[in-house]
Amino acid sequence: MTVIAFLGLGNMGLPMAKNLMAAGFDVRGFDVAAAARERAAAAGIRLGAEIADTVREAQFVITMLPAGPQVREAYLSPGGILDNAADGVLLVDCSTIDVETAREVHAEARSRGFAMLDAPVSGGVAGAEAATLTFMVGGEEEALKRAEPVLARMGRAVIHAGPAGTGQAAKICNNLMLGIQMISVCEAFALAERLGLAADRLFAIASRSSGQCWSLTHYCPVPGPVPSAPSNRGYRPGFTASMMLKDLRLAQEAAARVGAVTPLGAEACQLYALYSALGHGGTDFSGIFEMIAGKANKL
Ligand code: NAD
Repeated sequence: MTVIAFLGLGNMGLPMAKNLMAAGFDVRGFDVAAAARERAAAAGIRLGAEIADTVREAQFVITMLPAGPQVREAYLSPGGILDNAADGVLLVDCSTIDVETAREVHAEARSRGFAMLDAPVSGGVAGAEAATLTFMVGGEEEALKRAEPVLARMGRAVIHAGPAGTGQAAKICNNLMLGIQMISVCEAFALAERLGLAADRLFAIASRSSGQCWSLTHYCPVPGPVPSAPSNRGYRPGFTASMMLKDLRLAQEAAARVGAVTPLGAEACQLYALYSALGHGGTDFSGIFEMIAGKANKL
C-alpha cells in the first residue's frame, strides 16, 4: 500500500488527510499542536511521534503548514523532512507561502536528490472536506505526473503553473484578484444602499452584467442573494480576514521584490489590515462589507 506522510493537520490538512485515507492510502500524520494531533487521532489517522518516524517509510510527503517559516523548518531543520525521507520520495508542499521560500526549499530538496512540487490550493475548508480543491502546481512535469493520482483524491482540478515556485505565484496572483474584487463588490453594495437600490436588485442586475465576478455570484458579502455565502451566517468563516491579509501581504512583498506595480492590491491589503486591527481577523473576509458600509464594530 502506498504510504503518505501528511504534516500539518489543521483546518485544511486534516480533511485532506482524511480524504487520502478514505481513498485507501496508508496515511501517517504529524502536527506540532496537541489539539490537532488529538483531532487527527480521533479521525483514525496513525500519528508519528516526530517528523523523522512519520516520513521514513513514505513514498509521498505532503505538507500543509501555516507559512514560509514553518515550511522551511519542517523541510530543512536537522531532524526534518530532507534529513529523514527515503530515496525516491516525492515531496509536495500545499501550504500558501512566499515564492522565494518555495524556490529555496525546492532547490535544496533537488540538491539532495528529491523531487518536489509547490501545490497550493484554492477552495477553502469546504473544498478540502469535499475533495474539490484546485491545486496550482509548480515544479517538474514528471513529478506532477507522479503526484496527480494522489492530488486527484483531494481535489477536482490539478493545473500545472510552470517551474518551481510558480504554483505559489499563481496562488498569490489569484488571491490578489479576489481581495480587490471583494472590496469592489462591498463598495458597490454600500453605495447602492445609500442610493435606495435594494441589494437583491443590484445582485440580479450585476450578476448578469459586466460587474459579475466570483465575489458577487458565489460569495455575495451582503446577506440574502447567495444563501450559501458566509454573509448569511454572521460572517462565520469560510476564509478568514487574517488569511486574506496574509495572502495580500505575500502579494505586496512579491511585487516589491520584482518591481511590479499593484496599487489596488496595496489598498486592499491596508483595508484588510484595518479590518483585522478592529478585531475581525477571525471573521470571514467578506465581513469587510460591514466596515466599508460603516457598520463594523470594534471587537
Ligand atoms: P491551520 O493553522 O489550521 O493548520 C496548520 C497546522 O500546521 C496547525 O495544526 C499547526 O499546528 C501545524 N504546524 C505548524 N508547524 C508545524 C510543523 N513544523 N510540523 C507539523 N505541523 C506544524 O491552517 P490551515 O487553515 O489548515 O492552512 C494551512 C495552509 O493552507 C496555509 O498556508 C493557508 O494559507 C493555506 N490555505 C488555507 C485555506 C483556508 O481556507 N483555511 C485555503 C487555502 C489555503
